[in-house]
Amino acid sequence: MPDNRMHIALFGPPGAGKSTQSKFLLRRWPIVSLSTGKMLREESAAGSELGLKVRDLLGRGELVDDETMIATIRKWLENLPADKGFLLDGFPRTIPQAIALDEMLEELGRPLNGVVNLKLSVSEAVYRLGGRRICYGVGPEEIIHINDEDAVNRCLARGGLLVQRSDDLPNVIVKRLNVHEAETEPLLNYYRPRNIVHSVEASGSQEEVAQRIVEGFEPKASHTPKQ
Ligand code: ADP
Repeated sequence: MPDNRMHIALFGPPGAGKSTQSKFLLRRWPIVSLSTGKMLREESAAGSELGLKVRDLLGRGELVDDETMIATIRKWLENLPADKGFLLDGFPRTIPQAIALDEMLEELGRPLNGVVNLKLSVSEAVYRLGGRRICYGVGPEEIIHINDEDAVNRCLARGGLLVQRSDDLPNVIVKRLNVHEAETEPLLNYYRPRNIVHSVEASGSQEEVAQRIVEGFEPKASHTPKQ
């Protein structure tokens, strides 16, 4: 029987919209997902052992060490449901992580069959990250841009608080973009020979980007992403 489960890694520089696209894809496909950045920020906020270990690194825009990340993913993969695919947002980020992931997935008999590469110019990434704010308040948190007046007013009207991620400060943004270029971009060459890389332009609206991703996997399907 053919294995139709999607086993996907989502790549892209900071600001490319990986988490936003993960949310779309989770609604569209029968998959579970893990965002390593989100998970680390939650651990950090909760003050867990892992969180305390990584808090300063996150604030500086540096990567968490491979050993810690690989152990974390191994644990997550142990609970992978058999009847669903998966999407990794933010892992692997280095060649050693990619090699370890290959080994773990090989053991599970569930190798990666897609790598989505979101492409964004440095200037667009700096604009997005520099203006990114998270609206915390009643209801689910919302990510907005500080120049989007309507979104800002909506947030304030519902008693929300606009918060900037500590790694969205200008010097940290530059650091994260540099780290991405040095550590994560080379991964594309690692996966290219397998013909599983789908490169997608990440500028434009969230819906447009989602549509481009879906087209890469469902060439004959309707191209309207489910809301
Ligand atoms: P970004 O928008 O920078 O891609 P993420 O939310 O994916 O943000 O990650 C935030 C931070 O979490 C990274 O800058 C890094 O410090 C840490 N991190 C996330 N995933 C990994 C990983 N696979 N390896 C090492 N560090 C990671």
